[in-house]
Formats: sequence, C-alpha cells, structure tokens
Amino acid sequence: MFKSIEMAPADPILGLSEAFKADTNADKINLGVGVYKDEAGATPVLKCIKSAEAKLVDTETTKGYLPIDGNPAYGQAVRELLFGSNSEIVASARAATSHTPGGTGALRVAGEFIKNVLGVKSIWLSDPSWANHAAVFGAVGLEVKKYPYFDKASNGLDFQGMIEGLKSVGKGEVVLLHGCCHNPTGVDPTVEQWEKIASVVAERGGLPLVDFAYQGFGVGLEEDAAGLRAVAAKNKELLVCSSFSKNFGLYNERVGAFTVVAEDAEAVKKAQSQVKTLIRRIYSNPPAHGGAAVATVLADDALTKQWHDELAEMRERIAKMRQLFVDELNQRGVKLSDAGNQFIVDQCGMFSFSGLTKEQVDVLKKEHSIYIVGSGRINVAGISEKNVGKLCDAIAVVAGAA
Ligand code: PLP
Repeated sequence: MFKSIEMAPADPILGLSEAFKADTNADKINLGVGVYKDEAGATPVLKCIKSAEAKLVDTETTKGYLPIDGNPAYGQAVRELLFGSNSEIVASARAATSHTPGGTGALRVAGEFIKNVLGVKSIWLSDPSWANHAAVFGAVGLEVKKYPYFDKASNGLDFQGMIEGLKSVGKGEVVLLHGCCHNPTGVDPTVEQWEKIASVVAERGGLPLVDFAYQGFGVGLEEDAAGLRAVAAKNKELLVCSSFSKNFGLYNERVGAFTVVAEDAEAVKKAQSQVKTLIRRIYSNPPAHGGAAVATVLADDALTKQWHDELAEMRERIAKMRQLFVDELNQRGVKLSDAGNQFIVDQCGMFSFSGLTKEQVDVLKKEHSIYIVGSGRINVAGISEKNVGKLCDAIAVVAGAA
C-alpha cells in the first residue's frame, strides 16, 4: 500500500527554510519563514523566559498530565492579555480558554468547534491570508470563502472592498480577522475601520474568529488588542486563537490558546465542555512547559516588565529595519511601487508585502541566495545592518534599477 503513495509537495514556507539550510553560499539571506531574528541573525530565548524556566526547574514537583484545557492560571493570564484585566468579559467569566499546541493547534480546535459543534459549513478569510488558514480549515471540511483585503495599487487596505465583501457574509458564517500585524501583508485597519468591520460582522450575524499571533509586535500589547476589543464590544459571541510563538519567542514549545467568548457564564461553560471533548480526541491535553513559562512570567511583576522591554526591543528593531531597507532601496533608485517605498515603513509587524513578483523572487533565490516567499512576502526581521546592502544590491538588479 505504501509504495503507491505519491510525494507530497514541500510546504511553501517551511520548504524554503530547508532549501536555505542546504545553500552553501556564506552570504545567503533568509527572509522566508516568520521567525524573529536579532541583528546577528539569531532567534534567542528571551531573558524573561530563561528566568521563568529556572524557577520552574526549581519548583516543579510532577510531570503529571495537565487538565484537557490546560492550567487555569495560564487561561486567566491569556484572557487578561486579550481583553484587559479590568474588562467586563474577564469579570463576568463569559470567556473560557484552552491551552493549545501553538496558534496552529488553536486554529485546528477552532475549526473542529465551528464544523462539528456549531454545525457551520463555511469560513471567510481575507484575500490574501496566511497560507495555512485555508489548509487548516479545509482539512476539517469547511468551505473557504474570501473577502477583499489588500489593495495592490496603494499597497494598503482595500477598506471599501473589505466592507462590501463582509456584507455578503451569511448568518452564522465565520469570519476570520487578523488581530494585528496582518500576515502576509503587514497592513492593518485603523481603530475607526475596526469599529466598522465589527459592526458589519455583527449586522450580518457572522461569528468573528480573531487570529492573534503577533500581539505586541505592531504598536504595543494594549494598542494591538484594540481591533479585537472593538470586535468583542459589538459581538457578544466570538472566538480567539492566540499564539505566543512570536511575542514570547517560544516557537518550538508550541504555546497557543483557543478562547471562546459567549453571552454569559452559563453558555460558555457548555461551549467549553464541547471544546474539551474535541481536544480529548485530538491531542488529549496540552504540553506543559511553554505554557508554564508564560504563566510564570505573567504572574511576576518584574518578569512581566522584562517581557515588555524585550518585546519592545524586538518591535523597535523591526521598525528600524523597515526604515533602513527603504533608505537603502531609495539610495539605489529602486521603487517597489509607483508611489515609491514608503508603504514598507507604514506596514506593521514582522511582514511586508514587498511587491516583488514570483519571477523576481525566483531569480533572487537562484542567483543571489536570497530566500523570499513566492508571494513577495518579506520577513523584515531577517534584515540586518550587515545584510541590507547586499539585499538591496540584488533587488536593484532584479528590479532593473542597477
Ligand atoms: N496565525 C498566523 C497569522 C500566523 O502567522 C501564525 C504563524 O506564523 C500562526 C497563526 C501559527 O502560530 P504557531 O506557530 O504558534 O502555530
């Protein structure tokens, strides 16, 4: 039976990392996979996590199973990050959180909940969206529909198109919204635009699912939650998928969360009982370590302060690299859009939709050992003061400016 199995295509993003590893060019540059890098090109463990881990090693007394939905202290900390510690949602206990293996685990549990508990058949995604969204929701049997999002002409948000698209959402259909730092475009709605988006979804009777993988990578932890909170203010029921891979640098520990918000505490109890049944059948209960590290940081004022500082350092380095990238492109007379390169500074989070075409991306890989996703999405964190010159020289060649 196994002999007739065909080779699966490599994952478009993780496959690129494999090709990068195999490249022997000492000056190779990886702007593919969405992992934060410091100036030296490393993805270090955050100091607050190192301290939390030391504490955990000292105090841990058992490797016994966690509850199906994880450690309750972790769930509480997640809800406070999402909605604010004084929020009505937290106070009235109408949200329940499950610790999931990463944000991807949260999305899969969300998909199962939508399809098998709610009986909903379709989900709306932004066009474009993170490639794995369609794959995860398709795998649970949901039909994937798309609403307009990116305006190629301005390299910004197609807000009118988005609102018109959302007006086609049917009652009970799920609408996935990126909480902040939209992947892959780096383009986010303003707070006023979020208010309108939240209202249209509510008017249509849609169920919002906010995918929140970059809290703190945009403007700040609180500011980045403004969109989610606007959606929650207008929609009594919603789902949130969190990932702490990026903002806590816990990529391989698989730390995420699935949060269900219901109209009241009684309704959420029932929903959560169903979520637990789903999880029991998929992975039974979550891995403990990464979630325990996050909960330890968030339970300690000094470690929380250190986390805020480390998060700001990552965010500020990315913003600095955006500006440097644009300055270096400008110096070489390269224009990535008719209006120039300023859009790259205006985009936010780790990614930039650079406007580079698939053909240009191919040449950058083959002839310059520069690895970028086929859509032209650049991981800005992969740029450094050391490699930006080489990067922009190569872009000048492929863009015809050199
Ligand atoms: N959602 C978005 C928008 C992402 O960009 C990512 C990761 O790249 C995820 C979810 C998944 O995160 P995790 O690595 O925690 O599974």
